[in-house]
Amino acid sequence: MRVGLFGGTFDPPHLGHLVTAVNVRHVLKLDIVVLMVANDPWQKHGTREVASAVDRLAMVEAAVEGVDGLVAGDDEISRGGPSFTADTLTALSNRYTGAELFTIVGDDAAAKFGSWQRASEIAKLSTLVVVDRPGSPLAPPSEFIWNRVEVPRLEVSSTDLRQRFVDGRPLDYLIASEVLNVIAERGLYGAMKSRAIKSGAKKS
Ligand code: ATP
Ligand code: MG
Repeated sequence: MRVGLFGGTFDPPHLGHLVTAVNVRHVLKLDIVVLMVANDPWQKHGTREVASAVDRLAMVEAAVEGVDGLVAGDDEISRGGPSFTADTLTALSNRYTGAELFTIVGDDAAAKFGSWQRASEIAKLSTLVVVDRPGSPLAPPSEFIWNRVEVPRLEVSSTDLRQRFVDGRPLDYLIASEVLNVIAERGLYGAMKSRAIKSGAKKS
């Protein structure tokens, strides 16, 4: 079995994540790609508020529902504490005994790979896969061997999407409608508040 690990904060999951996962799966002939939801993205500490792990998992589950070969991963949430990819790879190799593992990252994440905990262990346990994101190309650390996979480059980020909730720009197609439903149901990103503000504005 060939298993891809695509980890992220997924705050929220978007078109860029999904297009990347299905295309890497196709190119590398992976049986599954696990979109692993970080419990505690320690590299983002002190930068901003992150939606709860449970809410982010619900969004990723909705995003992959019915998509062939994509699976939502909750191992890091069940484990608790800060999320380290080396531990997650070990969990996956226990679950999928004998599987060949692939760690998939965007070039922005790959560029910081040297600062990841136990990076060389990750490189031993899995094949490293990097995909380019739009913008200036970022080089992954050269002491590791990287497999570059070409995927459609989509200039979509969770950061821009969170801003769209605030300023009211459209979210359609950038976020799967199933995910937008979860966001509305759970009132994430001020979704309800911005709707209330809009309808209030119409009345006045
Ligand atoms: P944020 O803006 O909050 O950092 P993000 O859009 O970068 O969010 P993450 O959850 O941080 O999403 O990213 C998870 C993984 O997905 C990382 O490896 C990242 O490089 C990759 N990724 C995110 N967006 C894209 C995209 N549009 N194309 C390719 N890879 C992406
Ligand atoms: Mg990011």
